[in-house]
Amino acid sequence: MEYVTRILNGVAEKNPGEPAFYQAVHEVLSSIAPVLERDSRYEKWGILERMVEPERQFIFRVPWVDDQNRVQVNRGFRVQFNNAIGPYKGGVRLHPSVNLDIMKFLGFEQCFKNALTGLPMGGGKGGSDFDPKGKSDMEIMRFCQSFITTLYKYIGPHHDVPAGDIGTGEREIGYMFGHFKRITSHFDNVLTGKGLTYGGSYVRTEATGYGLVYLVDHILQTKGRSMEGMTVTVSGSGNVAIFAVEKAQQLGGKVVTMSDSTGFIHDREGVDLDAVKEIKLKNHARLSEYTKYRPRAEYHTGRGAFLVPCDMALPCATQNELTEAEAKALADGGCRIVAEGANMPCTPGAVALFNARGVLFVPGKAANAGGVATSGLEMSQNAIRYNWDFEKVDQRLQRIMQSIYDQISSAAEEYGMPDNYMAGANIASFLKISEAMLAQGVC
Ligand code: NDP
Repeated sequence: MEYVTRILNGVAEKNPGEPAFYQAVHEVLSSIAPVLERDSRYEKWGILERMVEPERQFIFRVPWVDDQNRVQVNRGFRVQFNNAIGPYKGGVRLHPSVNLDIMKFLGFEQCFKNALTGLPMGGGKGGSDFDPKGKSDMEIMRFCQSFITTLYKYIGPHHDVPAGDIGTGEREIGYMFGHFKRITSHFDNVLTGKGLTYGGSYVRTEATGYGLVYLVDHILQTKGRSMEGMTVTVSGSGNVAIFAVEKAQQLGGKVVTMSDSTGFIHDREGVDLDAVKEIKLKNHARLSEYTKYRPRAEYHTGRGAFLVPCDMALPCATQNELTEAEAKALADGGCRIVAEGANMPCTPGAVALFNARGVLFVPGKAANAGGVATSGLEMSQNAIRYNWDFEKVDQRLQRIMQSIYDQISSAAEEYGMPDNYMAGANIASFLKISEAMLAQGVC
């Protein structure tokens, strides 16, 4: 369609050297052509032009002093992408690979994901090329304080509410929150992912992984199947992966792989999650230690978690980690469903292969939306100054994941693409954001 082609060309031209951002935009815009064809208002009101341009982007210096009293300088980012349906909301990624391209791709994705949750949250993302690995607690605290010293002016409960992501967990959020409070004197609920003693929500830690499995389980149930007895391969061993494995095991799945950035484990008898939690969460060590706990399991350096035959694959590490060749291996090995716990972990070639081979594919903006949904529930609890218990938040999370399924499957159905959850997710979220943008005029 000419409108889509024109916008994509413009994105490529205006954002040179930003392949991840272009990939994310291309994925959404390629799905929504049928929607644009039905209604000329989108083009007339420049909806796509405005959607692909972040409302605001900050790049800032983050100086801090390491344990040897040396000055270190990192680069900080915050991209406030779109606040048509609520305050900007999205995590803070701390990883050496962070750059403006990654921030924009994640911020763009976040707008659509947040729309699917049904909660009033716009989209944004932030982060830094700071590498928390190997840093002391004090170094991490000094970095987080410096990061917030600049960012605090641009965030707020009604404006922009950052959260965790790769490299940013409860510890980092605590340091950022403490410093925000100190320099503003306000106990504002300006961050989510907080500890339970100062405004955090039950289930937030588990939410992305649990939500992913709730959604997949719901899809299986609609097809008269269940997770019981399924062999599942998972990548990653961080927050998302660990709780996806926990819920998959609770529902009867047999998880046989997990990974980190140096290698993967293959445990034919089923991953011992207590061992993984001890290695990763308690000892902050490498997954290679797993064979000390389970000598019969295998550890391999490098990639390969998705070369192991399975019924279901849950990529939960990072973007573009699951390639077309791995997608082929999955399909050849009998995999029937792939759901993205991470953001955009499957390359476009992998997604095309899943579609061609009839492997059900659930994109991250739907499958991993449970995390931000629970952040939204944290904001709601903060606003009413009350804490719901674990069961109540968990039930709400389950309802939200079910509603995401309803939205994406009915949008896919309505536009003649049944079971195409990628198209369904893009269409349903686009409709919601664009209706709000149309209602608010050119802004
Ligand atoms: P964590 O930092 O807790 O864990 C990330 C995991 O992925 C680790 O096992 C890490 O290995 C691995 N990893 C990171 N980068 C690479 C890489 N370049 N190659 C291979 N492995 C890598 O992050 P999360 O679990 O929080 O996030 C994982 C994904 O899920 C990200 O895409 C994130 O954006 C997405 N997500 C997270 C949400 C959340 O609530 N946390 C919400 C929605 C999406 P190592 O330990 O070696 O670094």
